[in-house]
Amino acid sequence: LPPLPEKSPIGRLPDGTFSRYAGAEKFSQLPLSKKTKDGLNQAKYKKMTDIQRASLPHSLCGRDILGAAKTGSGKTLAFIIPILEKLNRSRWGPEDGVGCIIMSPTRELANQLFNVLKSVGKYHGFSAGLLIGGRKDVDEEKVHVNSLNILVCTPGRLLQHMDETPNFDCSGLQVLVLDEADRILDVGFKKELNAIISQLPKHRQTFLFSATQTKSVQDLARLSLKDPEYLSVHEES
Ligand code: ADP
Ligand code: MG
Repeated sequence: LPPLPEKSPIGRLPDGTFSRYAGAEKFSQLPLSKKTKDGLNQAKYKKMTDIQRASLPHSLCGRDILGAAKTGSGKTLAFIIPILEKLNRSRWGPEDGVGCIIMSPTRELANQLFNVLKSVGKYHGFSAGLLIGGRKDVDEEKVHVNSLNILVCTPGRLLQHMDETPNFDCSGLQVLVLDEADRILDVGFKKELNAIISQLPKHRQTFLFSATQTKSVQDLARLSLKDPEYLSVHEES
């Protein structure tokens, strides 16, 4: 599997190349940047889990993903890796601002995936922020939020910034992730989510990952998914 040039002018692999990587079993077989490979190696990630194997060849080609796999199956890396690769390939830098938003239904889960991002993304130069309620002073966050490249947040806190932070800018958004999408799309978050989505650029890559497949057409239309790849993985254990 020949690796593609690390810095391609487009933020993704060319269309159709996913089939070349469909049989890959290890991260080392994927056309990933050295920075990402080093981060994975350092964290001792070698073999892909089923949801990673199924989704990465598609997500690295720029496709939207609707992925379902049970808890503990490795969904976090299935979206963190293509985020790092997309920003890296498009040479995202400090002056480019917010390039990715990852939404999580709870502070606890946001915190967990922020740690995975920090560990696997440590060799990249991107800045990332954890925007969750409660812990930190929101006024302090407001000063820095526009200079962050990757936002890991709960819907409530993100909306608070959209409402209150002067010049909060996500017009350059490249990737939107809804982790535990079924829980975020749940009635409890519907109002927040509608308000958030209406303020995000439509031309972007979107990943929805959850333990159960989200099929509500209304939900998907609202999220403006483009010809998404539906992946449902049930690992034998
Ligand atoms: P999910 O989001 O599907 O519930 P996580 O992404 O939280 O699952 O991963 C569950 C556990 O599996 C974590 O401890 C993570 O470090 C581990 N893990 C994920 N991918 C791999 C992999 N490719 N190889 C080994 N362990 C992995
Ligand atoms: Mg998870």
